[in-house]
Amino acid sequence: MMSATPLTGPPHAPTELIVDLDALADNWRLLRDRAAAGGAAASAVVKADGYGLGIAPVARALHAAGCRTFFTAHLDEAVALRAVLPGTETEIGVLNGLLPGDAEVYRAHRLVPTLNDLGQIDHWRALGAPLPAAVHCDTGMARLGLPPAETDRLAAEPERLDGVHLRYVMSHLVTADDPDAAINAHQRDAFADLVARLPAASGGAMLANSSGCFLGNGWLFDAVRPGVGIYGVAPNDRGPNPMRPVVSLSAKILQIRDVDAPQTVGYGAAYSVAGPTRVATVAVGYADGYLRALGTGPIGEAAVAHVGDKEVPVIGRVSMDLTTLDVTAVPEVAVGDRIEMIGPHNTVDRLADAAGTIGYEILTGLGTRYRRRYIGGPDGEAR
Ligand SMILES: *Cc1c(COP(=O)(O)O)cnc(C)c1O
Repeated sequence: MMSATPLTGPPHAPTELIVDLDALADNWRLLRDRAAAGGAAASAVVKADGYGLGIAPVARALHAAGCRTFFTAHLDEAVALRAVLPGTETEIGVLNGLLPGDAEVYRAHRLVPTLNDLGQIDHWRALGAPLPAAVHCDTGMARLGLPPAETDRLAAEPERLDGVHLRYVMSHLVTADDPDAAINAHQRDAFADLVARLPAASGGAMLANSSGCFLGNGWLFDAVRPGVGIYGVAPNDRGPNPMRPVVSLSAKILQIRDVDAPQTVGYGAAYSVAGPTRVATVAVGYADGYLRALGTGPIGEAAVAHVGDKEVPVIGRVSMDLTTLDVTAVPEVAVGDRIEMIGPHNTVDRLADAAGTIGYEILTGLGTRYRRRYIGGPDGEAR
């Protein structure tokens, strides 16, 4: 039997988001084992509230699975994570860089900044005692990290790192989700070159995100930094997704209407029924991260949901709080029954495709109005 850790979220929500912490842990172990086969260690990226799934239960489950190095984007996310995982065995890195005035917070909570330019390196070093930090060198993203000219300068003046406990030298892949993209090999080679020119880091060189773990051993280096794959999103679109689905979302039917042509459904009269149609309404809308692009109109075809194995298409616009579905094919459904909005039939990736976006955006956009149930994980009973 699976047992649930405490429910969170509004207690009377007619919607339920289930987060499977055993699947999450399995996904991390799969990435860890893949990395280990190439001689690399695995960390976990838990930024943006654990990709929208809740940083505390996510981090506890990953820690129980053996993860000891975590990354957040923001300093405050890392401070929150430190309260969840206070042990000295757990390393918490912050990807977004060292901002003026924040050094003491890093020190007080034993957090590891990612130093993204020479000024940040000098600032960290000036604190006196050698404190741990990662150095991020840009190899193509032009987003964060030392630009190539600063990396060259650091290579020429390695003493700039003298007062720093260098944990990782890292970079970030631009197109890891496309295994055929030539830039992957270019970045791998550029990274190998700069790693060889910089002082050695105690945790080694770290390049790959989730998708990067599937490019080949040449991209693994000493450590990897996966995020989205842990949460079930496919690393690329080649072949079946090796990751287990982690989230499912169901919604109770609030009302059912039997309508016939001529009749439109929802805002903008964007959908016209062709004949006798059963319309079910659920309390999931774009304010809950069920994107407006999933309805009739804005982008491509509308999404589908499921009742059991039967497909129930979204019809009409997705509104802020509500979505309407055609349940004509399932005459037995009644008010109060559950519709699978995300689940085995409608994966996060499939929903993302339907909305013209990526699984990352679906996950991190999941709203706060769902009842959340965490199943499995370290606080759950063994199955
Ligand atoms: C978000 C992020 C990751 C994790 O990437 P995924 O694609 O989610 O696996 C790794 N490194 C950096 C710098 C990131 O910003």
